[in-house]
Amino acid sequence: MNAVCVKCARCNPSCPTFMESLDEVYSPRGYLHLCTLLESQKIQLRDEVVQILSSCTQCGDCEPLCPIDLPIVQMIASALK
Ligand code: SF4
Ligand code: SF4
Repeated sequence: MNAVCVKCARCNPSCPTFMESLDEVYSPRGYLHLCTLLESQKIQLRDEVVQILSSCTQCGDCEPLCPIDLPIVQMIASALK
């Protein structure tokens, strides 16, 4: 299991989907929150969840800003498998 997002939001300004929407759901920590809920089976991989996670462009711009070096792109991609 990967380390867990500490929700510091340092990554938010780097994320194009957050900056466009200004909606936390479409931020790295929003995506990772969904990943955590999926991993713990608190939610199912329904169409709405797939739509949100698929919004991540996998640009990787968030990763250099993460203080705990989370592999954010890989974590989001893995949740969609
Ligand atoms: S990889 Fe995804 S979460 Fe990270 S900055 Fe790009 S769009 Fe946002
Ligand atoms: S910088 Fe890393 S720990 Fe902080 S909110 Fe973003 S993904 Fe989570």
